[in-house]
Amino acid sequence: MNKDKVRKTALHTIDVVGIKIDTRHYIGGQRVASAEAFTNTSPIDGSFLGDICRGTQKEADLAVAAAKAAFPAWAALGPKGRGELLLRLAELVEENIETLAQLETMDNGSLLRSHRRGVMPRVAMNIRFFAEWAINELQHPDFETRGHTNKISWDPSGVAVLITPWNAPLMLATWKIGPALAAGDTVILKPAEWTPLSASFFADLTKQAGIPDGVFNVVQGFGKEIGAALVAHADIARISFTGSVPTAKVIARSAADNLTPVSFELGGKSPCVVLEDADIDLAVELAVEQYDNAGQVCLSGTRILVHESIADAFALKFKEKALQIIQGDPRDEATQIGPQIHQVHFDRVKGFVDRAKESGANIIMGGEPNSDLGGLYFRPTLVMNPDPTSEIVTSEVFGPVLCLQTFKTDEEAIAMANSTEFGLAAILVTGNKERAERVAKQLVAGTIWVNCFFVRDLRAPFGGSKKSGIGREGGNWSFDFYADVKNTVVSPNGWKE
Ligand code: ADP
Repeated sequence: MNKDKVRKTALHTIDVVGIKIDTRHYIGGQRVASAEAFTNTSPIDGSFLGDICRGTQKEADLAVAAAKAAFPAWAALGPKGRGELLLRLAELVEENIETLAQLETMDNGSLLRSHRRGVMPRVAMNIRFFAEWAINELQHPDFETRGHTNKISWDPSGVAVLITPWNAPLMLATWKIGPALAAGDTVILKPAEWTPLSASFFADLTKQAGIPDGVFNVVQGFGKEIGAALVAHADIARISFTGSVPTAKVIARSAADNLTPVSFELGGKSPCVVLEDADIDLAVELAVEQYDNAGQVCLSGTRILVHESIADAFALKFKEKALQIIQGDPRDEATQIGPQIHQVHFDRVKGFVDRAKESGANIIMGGEPNSDLGGLYFRPTLVMNPDPTSEIVTSEVFGPVLCLQTFKTDEEAIAMANSTEFGLAAILVTGNKERAERVAKQLVAGTIWVNCFFVRDLRAPFGGSKKSGIGREGGNWSFDFYADVKNTVVSPNGWKE
């Protein structure tokens, strides 16, 4: 990502569609500038949005020191004291939904209407949910061992470093910020360098909400610079990362030196399995949905596996529906999918499709840029029956590129579904409950959606099997990670009163 042009300095504030954004880091409740900056552009039309302060080891050290200093008082506030401030923060997000939606769309090119109606309300909910969970739900009944009482508690653990990606910046960040702050940890957020804006605005909201200085910090810059400095720091207690497998391996190596616990949510190459007894219209609808966010969704069911007896009918209906997808400016209400995030990413997606073409793959839809719209738009693409060992089937493309493969038996479908190194999610479409249960049981993934997609409850565990991740977040699972889970064993003996 260092291909972005590096500038010498940044203005302290920029104006993005009438919204004032501070380009500096937010450390210890103060805005802190860096000597150098990186350029931020909009994927919608490539327009320049601003130069953003580019942090290094120095800012990483400052942020860790600030978060460490703020930790004891934040931890001592307890779930109720922290909850009051976090609920105020959730309200402020709600009051600023339109601003956050506009900002995020300019920065990452996802649909404005979905930011307004779905994503930003979810951001508020992420914070509210975990604040309330810590107050009301986070408890374990005491139990006795030969007259001794076991008391389980979730204690704050220290400084949590949160490293997040660009495909759903504030949404994915608050899945981590919510439980980390509610658990009593202090936080350093490092947003992806292609999408730093919403995090900076969010930092202002934490200040307005009265979150004490140093409890929440944002540092900006490249993963290989400030990201690497943060995860290697000896004074941090947790690393939560959402991103790619290669980056996760680098972070894991760094974390190993200090034995810092990690939570990783990584890539996917999820199957969408359509059995022959499926409601075919529902199956087509779910499969076409996999183009959402221009395919830049880690959960996407990009491998559509269809029983051979219905494959022709399915492909016909799929194409009919997918060809109606309106691609365009994500600010237009009618648009269904927008651009890829960045030229570097666009080239990567195009590279996968070009190489598939060169190797003779049968691309029955799309397969090329939608250049009329601008530089970063790639047409929804369907690759028919690709070689199962080819990279388009085994690697995460993270673009609007789906593969359709066929199978003869449930066993074959299961084997194909489980054949990649990933295991984030799987979609199963069938009309038979007994079969659904049997097949779902054999699919290896953190989340299985049966006859549905993207139903996500914050009480549920979320994460990946195999190379798709380490650990689970959601409900108690989040607190098991961010907190230090403690058992206090109290003896019946030795009491003087
Ligand atoms: P992508 O999902 O675009 O392939 P990455 O997994 O590399 O990207 O990036 C996800 C996040 O990880 C970004 O915030 C990025 O800056 C950060 N990152 C990249 N490399 C490192 C690293 N070596 N150490 C810490 N963070 C990193």
